[in-house]
Amino acid sequence: MTPPSARPRGARGPDSGGRAVPNAYAGTVPAARILVVEDDETIGRGLSDALERQGYDVDWVTSGAGGIEHAARRPPALVLLDLGLPDVDGVEVCRRLRAAHPDSTILIVTARSAEIDVVVGLDAGADDYVTKPFGIAELTARIRAHLRRRDLAPGADPQLIVGDVCLDREARRVYVDGEEVQLRAKEFDLLTLLMSEAGAAITRERIMSEVWDENWWGSTKTLDMHISTLRRKLNDPVDAPRRIVTLRGVGYRFEKP
Ligand code: CA
Repeated sequence: MTPPSARPRGARGPDSGGRAVPNAYAGTVPAARILVVEDDETIGRGLSDALERQGYDVDWVTSGAGGIEHAARRPPALVLLDLGLPDVDGVEVCRRLRAAHPDSTILIVTARSAEIDVVVGLDAGADDYVTKPFGIAELTARIRAHLRRRDLAPGADPQLIVGDVCLDREARRVYVDGEEVQLRAKEFDLLTLLMSEAGAAITRERIMSEVWDENWWGSTKTLDMHISTLRRKLNDPVDAPRRIVTLRGVGYRFEKP
Protein backbone atom coordinates (compact mmCIF):
# COMPACT_ATOMS: atom_id res chain seq x y z
CA MET A 1 0.00 0.00 0.00
CA THR A 2 0.98 3.61 -0.23
CA PRO A 3 0.53 5.04 3.24
CA PRO A 4 -0.77 8.59 3.49
CA SER A 5 2.00 11.09 4.12
CA ALA A 6 2.89 10.64 7.75
CA ARG A 7 2.72 13.74 9.88
CA PRO A 8 5.79 14.42 11.94
CA ARG A 9 4.67 13.51 15.41
CA GLY A 10 7.11 13.80 18.26
CA ALA A 11 7.81 10.70 20.22
CA ARG A 12 4.71 8.81 19.31
CA GLY A 13 5.24 5.31 18.03
CA PRO A 14 3.86 1.83 18.42
CA ASP A 15 2.92 0.75 21.93
CA SER A 16 2.53 4.35 23.01
CA GLY A 17 -0.82 3.49 24.48
CA GLY A 18 -3.21 5.22 22.12
CA ARG A 19 -5.10 8.33 23.00
CA ALA A 20 -8.43 9.82 22.20
CA VAL A 21 -8.51 12.61 19.64
CA PRO A 22 -11.36 15.03 18.98
CA ASN A 23 -14.04 13.04 17.24
CA ALA A 24 -14.90 14.29 13.76
CA TYR A 25 -18.29 12.60 14.02
CA ALA A 26 -19.11 13.86 17.50
CA GLY A 27 -22.80 13.67 18.15
CA THR A 28 -23.53 10.86 15.74
CA VAL A 29 -21.02 8.08 16.37
CA PRO A 30 -18.84 7.70 19.47
CA ALA A 31 -15.10 7.38 18.80
CA ALA A 32 -14.63 3.67 18.30
CA ARG A 33 -11.37 2.15 19.50
CA ILE A 34 -9.33 0.42 16.80
CA LEU A 35 -6.32 -1.76 17.52
CA VAL A 36 -3.75 -1.97 14.71
CA VAL A 37 -1.49 -5.04 14.93
CA GLU A 38 1.18 -4.46 12.28
CA ASP A 39 4.95 -4.91 12.47
CA ASP A 40 5.71 -2.86 9.35
CA GLU A 41 6.51 0.66 10.62
CA THR A 42 5.44 2.45 7.43
CA ILE A 43 2.12 0.65 7.13
CA GLY A 44 1.40 0.77 10.86
CA ARG A 45 2.09 4.48 11.10
CA GLY A 46 0.20 5.25 7.87
CA LEU A 47 -2.86 3.34 9.08
CA SER A 48 -2.78 4.82 12.58
CA ASP A 49 -2.46 8.37 11.27
CA ALA A 50 -5.19 7.95 8.68
CA LEU A 51 -7.61 6.43 11.20
CA GLU A 52 -6.86 9.05 13.85
CA ARG A 53 -7.56 11.78 11.34
CA GLN A 54 -10.99 10.23 10.91
CA GLY A 55 -11.61 10.54 14.61
CA TYR A 56 -10.98 6.96 15.76
CA ASP A 57 -9.24 6.16 19.02
CA VAL A 58 -6.27 4.19 17.66
CA ASP A 59 -3.81 1.90 19.42
CA TRP A 60 -0.91 0.43 17.45
CA VAL A 61 1.24 -2.54 18.43
CA THR A 62 3.92 -4.33 16.41
CA SER A 63 3.67 -7.94 17.61
CA GLY A 64 1.07 -10.66 18.04
CA ALA A 65 1.75 -11.07 21.75
CA GLY A 66 1.54 -7.29 22.11
CA GLY A 67 -1.83 -7.31 20.35
CA ILE A 68 -3.30 -9.98 22.62
CA GLU A 69 -1.98 -8.24 25.74
CA HIS A 70 -3.08 -4.77 24.61
CA ALA A 71 -6.58 -5.94 23.69
CA ALA A 72 -6.97 -7.40 27.17
CA ARG A 73 -6.20 -4.01 28.73
CA ARG A 74 -8.13 -1.83 26.25
CA PRO A 75 -10.74 -3.95 24.47
CA PRO A 76 -11.09 -2.71 20.88
CA ALA A 77 -14.26 -2.36 18.85
CA LEU A 78 -12.28 -3.44 15.80
CA VAL A 79 -8.87 -5.03 15.22
CA LEU A 80 -6.83 -4.57 12.04
CA LEU A 81 -4.61 -7.62 12.12
CA ASP A 82 -1.60 -8.28 9.92
CA LEU A 83 -1.01 -12.02 9.37
CA GLY A 84 2.74 -11.85 8.91
CA LEU A 85 3.89 -10.99 12.43
CA PRO A 86 7.38 -11.54 13.86
CA ASP A 87 6.38 -13.60 16.89
CA VAL A 88 3.04 -15.42 16.96
CA ASP A 89 1.42 -16.42 13.66
CA GLY A 90 -1.39 -14.03 12.71
CA VAL A 91 -3.92 -16.87 12.40
CA GLU A 92 -3.18 -17.91 15.97
CA VAL A 93 -3.43 -14.28 17.13
CA CYS A 94 -6.81 -14.08 15.41
CA ARG A 95 -8.01 -17.23 17.15
CA ARG A 96 -6.97 -15.97 20.56
CA LEU A 97 -8.42 -12.50 20.02
CA ARG A 98 -11.69 -14.05 18.89
CA ALA A 99 -11.85 -16.29 21.97
CA ALA A 100 -11.13 -13.39 24.35
CA HIS A 101 -13.23 -10.77 22.57
CA PRO A 102 -16.29 -12.34 20.98
CA ASP A 103 -17.86 -8.93 20.30
CA SER A 104 -14.88 -7.28 18.59
CA THR A 105 -14.72 -7.09 14.81
CA ILE A 106 -11.51 -8.62 13.42
CA LEU A 107 -10.38 -7.42 10.02
CA ILE A 108 -7.38 -9.20 8.51
CA VAL A 109 -4.86 -7.17 6.51
CA THR A 110 -2.57 -9.42 4.56
CA ALA A 111 -0.58 -10.15 1.44
CA ARG A 112 -1.10 -13.89 2.04
CA SER A 113 -4.28 -14.41 0.06
CA ALA A 114 -3.74 -18.17 0.20
CA GLU A 115 -4.66 -18.20 3.87
CA ILE A 116 -7.77 -16.05 3.66
CA ASP A 117 -10.14 -19.02 3.61
CA VAL A 118 -8.71 -20.40 6.83
CA VAL A 119 -8.69 -17.08 8.62
CA VAL A 120 -12.14 -15.92 7.63
CA GLY A 121 -13.53 -19.39 8.20
CA LEU A 122 -15.18 -20.24 11.48
CA ASP A 123 -11.96 -21.66 12.79
CA ALA A 124 -9.95 -18.47 13.25
CA GLY A 125 -12.98 -16.22 13.48
CA ALA A 126 -12.06 -13.15 11.44
CA ASP A 127 -14.98 -11.07 10.17
CA ASP A 128 -13.46 -9.72 6.98
CA TYR A 129 -10.16 -9.20 5.20
CA VAL A 130 -8.31 -6.80 2.91
CA THR A 131 -5.35 -7.89 0.81
CA LYS A 132 -2.26 -5.73 0.38
CA PRO A 133 -1.88 -3.49 -1.48
CA PHE A 134 -5.12 -1.70 -0.64
CA GLY A 135 -6.32 1.87 -0.66
CA ILE A 136 -7.01 3.74 2.56
CA ALA A 137 -10.40 4.83 1.20
CA GLU A 138 -11.46 1.23 0.61
CA LEU A 139 -10.23 0.15 4.02
CA THR A 140 -11.93 2.97 5.90
CA ALA A 141 -15.18 2.33 4.03
CA ARG A 142 -15.05 -1.28 5.22
CA ILE A 143 -14.29 -0.19 8.76
CA ARG A 144 -17.23 2.21 8.76
CA ALA A 145 -19.53 -0.49 7.43
CA HIS A 146 -18.48 -2.92 10.16
CA LEU A 147 -18.76 -0.37 12.93
CA ARG A 148 -22.15 0.73 11.66
CA ARG A 149 -23.39 -2.85 11.98
CA ARG A 150 -22.11 -2.84 15.56
CA ASP A 151 -24.01 0.40 16.18
CA LEU A 152 -27.19 -1.59 15.73
CA ALA A 153 -26.24 -3.68 18.75
CA PRO A 154 -28.26 -3.19 21.93
CA GLY A 155 -26.93 -0.33 24.01
CA ALA A 156 -26.12 2.00 21.11
CA ASP A 157 -28.30 5.10 20.81
CA PRO A 158 -30.98 3.90 18.43
CA GLN A 159 -32.22 7.30 17.32
CA LEU A 160 -30.90 9.52 14.57
CA ILE A 161 -32.55 12.94 14.52
CA VAL A 162 -31.84 15.50 11.81
CA GLY A 163 -34.19 18.46 11.63
CA ASP A 164 -37.74 17.12 11.73
CA VAL A 165 -36.74 13.64 10.56
CA CYS A 166 -36.34 11.02 13.28
CA LEU A 167 -35.08 7.53 12.50
CA ASP A 168 -35.23 4.73 15.08
CA ARG A 169 -32.66 2.10 14.12
CA GLU A 170 -33.87 -0.55 16.55
CA ALA A 171 -37.55 -0.28 15.70
CA ARG A 172 -36.72 0.48 12.05
CA ARG A 173 -39.28 3.29 12.03
CA VAL A 174 -39.05 6.76 10.54
CA TYR A 175 -41.02 9.87 11.49
CA VAL A 176 -41.24 13.16 9.61
CA ASP A 177 -42.53 16.00 11.75
CA GLY A 178 -43.99 13.39 14.12
CA GLU A 179 -45.82 11.46 11.41
CA GLU A 180 -44.64 7.93 10.72
CA VAL A 181 -43.49 7.21 7.17
CA GLN A 182 -43.47 3.66 5.77
CA LEU A 183 -40.14 2.70 4.19
CA ARG A 184 -39.03 -0.50 2.53
CA ALA A 185 -35.90 -2.26 3.79
CA LYS A 186 -33.39 -0.76 1.35
CA GLU A 187 -34.95 2.70 1.63
CA PHE A 188 -34.51 2.47 5.39
CA ASP A 189 -30.87 1.32 5.10
CA LEU A 190 -30.13 4.10 2.61
CA LEU A 191 -31.69 6.75 4.83
CA THR A 192 -29.79 5.41 7.85
CA LEU A 193 -26.48 5.83 6.02
CA LEU A 194 -27.33 9.33 4.77
CA MET A 195 -28.62 10.53 8.15
CA SER A 196 -25.80 8.99 10.18
CA GLU A 197 -23.42 11.33 8.37
CA ALA A 198 -25.78 14.24 7.79
CA GLY A 199 -24.04 17.25 6.28
CA ALA A 200 -21.34 15.11 4.64
CA ALA A 201 -21.11 14.03 1.01
CA ILE A 202 -21.50 10.28 0.56
CA THR A 203 -20.30 8.84 -2.71
CA ARG A 204 -22.43 6.63 -4.92
CA GLU A 205 -19.76 3.93 -4.68
CA ARG A 206 -19.92 3.91 -0.92
CA ILE A 207 -23.68 3.83 -0.87
CA MET A 208 -23.70 0.93 -3.31
CA SER A 209 -21.18 -1.06 -1.30
CA GLU A 210 -22.70 -0.36 2.13
CA VAL A 211 -26.42 -0.45 1.41
CA TRP A 212 -26.47 -3.04 -1.31
CA ASP A 213 -23.24 -4.99 -1.03
CA GLU A 214 -19.67 -5.12 -2.18
CA ASN A 215 -20.50 -7.56 -4.91
CA TRP A 216 -23.32 -5.54 -6.39
CA TRP A 217 -22.91 -5.58 -10.14
CA GLY A 218 -26.33 -4.26 -11.07
CA SER A 219 -27.20 -0.83 -12.36
CA THR A 220 -26.80 2.14 -10.06
CA LYS A 221 -30.16 3.31 -11.45
CA THR A 222 -31.47 1.30 -8.52
CA LEU A 223 -29.92 3.92 -6.26
CA ASP A 224 -31.51 6.83 -8.14
CA MET A 225 -34.89 5.14 -7.92
CA HIS A 226 -34.54 4.65 -4.17
CA ILE A 227 -33.45 8.27 -3.73
CA SER A 228 -36.50 9.60 -5.58
CA THR A 229 -38.83 7.35 -3.59
CA LEU A 230 -37.21 8.52 -0.35
CA ARG A 231 -37.60 12.16 -1.39
CA ARG A 232 -41.27 11.63 -2.13
CA LYS A 233 -41.86 9.87 1.20
CA LEU A 234 -39.97 12.58 3.10
CA ASN A 235 -41.94 15.37 1.38
CA ASP A 236 -38.78 16.56 -0.35
CA PRO A 237 -39.61 18.36 -3.64
CA VAL A 238 -38.08 16.26 -6.43
CA ASP A 239 -37.24 19.27 -8.61
CA ALA A 240 -35.62 21.24 -5.76
CA PRO A 241 -34.78 18.82 -2.94
CA ARG A 242 -33.93 20.37 0.40
CA ARG A 243 -33.27 17.22 2.43
CA ILE A 244 -31.46 14.80 0.12
CA VAL A 245 -29.27 16.87 -2.17
CA THR A 246 -27.68 15.46 -5.35
CA LEU A 247 -23.97 16.15 -5.75
CA ARG A 248 -23.34 15.74 -9.46
CA GLY A 249 -20.62 13.24 -10.25
CA VAL A 250 -20.18 12.48 -6.54
CA GLY A 251 -23.22 11.22 -4.71
CA TYR A 252 -25.68 12.56 -2.15
CA ARG A 253 -25.81 14.56 1.04
CA PHE A 254 -28.48 14.65 3.72
CA GLU A 255 -28.75 18.34 4.62
CA LYS A 256 -28.68 19.52 8.19
CA PRO A 257 -31.28 22.21 8.89
CA1 CA B 1 3.95 -8.03 8.57
